[in-house]
Amino acid sequence: MVYFIGAGPGDPELLTLKGYKILKNCQVIIYAGSLVNPEILNFADKNAKVYDSSKMTLKEILEVIRRYKDKDIARLHTGDPSLFGAINEQIELLEKEGIPYEIIPGVSSIFAGAASLKRELTVPEITQTVIITRYGKRTYVPEDLEKLSKHNATLVLFLSVKYLKEIVDILKRNYPNNTPISIVYKASWKDEKIVSGTLEDIVEKAGGIESTALIYVGRFLEDIKTRSKLYDKAFSHMYRRSEYEDSNSFDN
Ligand code: SAH
Repeated sequence: MVYFIGAGPGDPELLTLKGYKILKNCQVIIYAGSLVNPEILNFADKNAKVYDSSKMTLKEILEVIRRYKDKDIARLHTGDPSLFGAINEQIELLEKEGIPYEIIPGVSSIFAGAASLKRELTVPEITQTVIITRYGKRTYVPEDLEKLSKHNATLVLFLSVKYLKEIVDILKRNYPNNTPISIVYKASWKDEKIVSGTLEDIVEKAGGIESTALIYVGRFLEDIKTRSKLYDKAFSHMYRRSEYEDSNSFDN
């Protein structure tokens, strides 16, 4: 059995209890050494065979899976496997060869970053939409960032910080120049770093961050105190109450 386990954003304690229990019992571990915190391997059986997938080709990973298909294999992915996890190629082989597998969700870095920023991505009255994407420089992205930015929604870019200047230039065509933007480097790791600014000054401020970072854009980042007018009693009486009452999906 192969278990694709979301290993969380970095802090080993953000591995789910389910992922932890399964990892403990696996005899073979393949982990993404470039992004998964190796401290997580301390939870594993001391006799487990460990492979670092960042040093392997897809073919080599599939060979390891094939070789140990009668054992329990933990395939650790950073964050949650469903976001930029490249699990499809692996699943395809497992399906073809009839090797059973299960996917254990994890805490995506997008949520660790939001927690560090101390912000809600979906702010009532500001935006109820989160666009998760990446910038397509060398590899193809079907959607056009300029069109996506027309919504002025909360926007989170993975795998893109290297191209910050190009991204900001595109965003400025649709987001106002004073739109807040934050870069979260290594969310939940000990060396986490946050750089915040606006579309106007972020490129200057964030110089040097080249990888393992998320770009957050949108008014959800605004100072909560200056936005508090929206939440005064009269306003909530007129709009918010009825909206909340209409909805059964608010998590409060
Ligand atoms: N499945 C992962 C994302 C894998 S793609 C998840 O759910 O988080 C790898 C990209 O994720 C990195 O280039 C970076 O943009 C982002 N990333 C992963 N871990 C991160 C962290 N701890 N802090 C900030 N960004 C992170």
